[in-house]
Amino acid sequence: MFGVRGNDVDAARLTYFGLFALQHRGQESAGIAVSDGDNITVYKDMGLVAQVFDETVLAGLGGDLAIGHTRYSTTGSNRWENSQPVFRHLGSNGIALAHNGNLTNTATLAAEVGPVAATTDSELMTEAIADAMQSGELSLDEALTTVLPRFEGAFTLAVMDSTTLVGVRDPHGFRPLCLGNLGDTWVIASETAALDILGADLVREIEPGEMVIVDDHGPRFVNPFPKSKSSLCIFEFVYFARPDSTLLGRNVHTKRQLMGRLLAEQAPVEADVVVPVPESGIPAAQGFAEVSGVPYSDGLVKNRYVGRTFIQPAQEMRDRGVRMKLNAMPSVIDGKRVVLVDDSIVRGSTTKQLVAMVREAGATEVHLRISSPPYRWPCFYGMDTGDRSTLLAADRSVDEIASHLDVDSVVYLTLENLTRATRSDPDAFCTACLTGAYPTEVPLADSKFLLEQPS
Ligand code: SF4
Repeated sequence: MFGVRGNDVDAARLTYFGLFALQHRGQESAGIAVSDGDNITVYKDMGLVAQVFDETVLAGLGGDLAIGHTRYSTTGSNRWENSQPVFRHLGSNGIALAHNGNLTNTATLAAEVGPVAATTDSELMTEAIADAMQSGELSLDEALTTVLPRFEGAFTLAVMDSTTLVGVRDPHGFRPLCLGNLGDTWVIASETAALDILGADLVREIEPGEMVIVDDHGPRFVNPFPKSKSSLCIFEFVYFARPDSTLLGRNVHTKRQLMGRLLAEQAPVEADVVVPVPESGIPAAQGFAEVSGVPYSDGLVKNRYVGRTFIQPAQEMRDRGVRMKLNAMPSVIDGKRVVLVDDSIVRGSTTKQLVAMVREAGATEVHLRISSPPYRWPCFYGMDTGDRSTLLAADRSVDEIASHLDVDSVVYLTLENLTRATRSDPDAFCTACLTGAYPTEVPLADSKFLLEQPS
């Protein structure tokens, strides 16, 4: 998610570059809403940023103010109608909204907003904001201040009318957001790596519960919510964020290496080679090799042109994706005792295939080391993990997991070591998928297709 407001800038092009840097956060669809000061134009389609936008499209998106989005579905299915930014007409103009996260009170909000054609929580939020603007004759930021406290769950937002850019983090701050600047151009982005691609300076991370409003006078900050406990998703550090981004002021890559170092201290093993699952397992494997003294080698080769398997929505696509994406190298693995390092296991189907691949390549032993604790509970805050029955570790002991995956041993990093590796306050995180302790009420019966009619 990205937003930019400047003077005499090509806001859509800057947003295109920003989205390019944020492609890993969603690969189903991409979109940009741009304002020329009077009218908002939205262009969005299914696919990757580079597939959706070309020179001709960008040339038609003139204006100094824009927001952009890459989608990874958590409410609503993977189809064009659910792509973002969402646009809603208001008089002769309108508002556009991009959302990272997932609401936990979608059903309540749907009942409050009344009958609309929305199939996502993001459309419902857009309706609620537009209704408040219309009925109360409020400006965008006034309407947001009124409406935002009605939303519950995870919602980092970029919202715009034809002249104003607004960035919001929900009071728990599940998903990150930062503010940057480039001369007199102001940028908001899910991750700092998107500022780097533009050469923008990081001003600071937006705090949980904070709203930044950028207009002709530059940015100003408002806190529309009652104070809540900060709950940044710990998986932003483990998996989601780019390694070159900073979170809570800390570089993600070095913290992932530290997770691997702590894992080696916690679970040493006699072995011949440390092999990462690329690319997410690389920094932890580097850290593990450094502390254990077992040589590191790239025994799995990744086809870089296939997207993250986990982020694709259907199981069938994920299964096919693994073999398309990774291949084991016998020259590294044959006859060796292998420590296979990955950052997490959610459903386990990918890991099971990888272990089989490593054994086929001649490994005599496979010891799995995971740089996060067992993933036991579903996420309601923007990771589409499916229901509990799909999670490998939901009801299995570590021994049962080892036998299911056909490994000689498996050890997960403890929660204490994980939070220690972030070098941040352990209470600053959501760890609900690891502990079952959700920071908000969660709708256990709801599914991502809550707002859609059965076909
Ligand atoms: S439940 Fe897990 S994945 Fe979801 S926000 Fe919390 S820590 Fe992140």
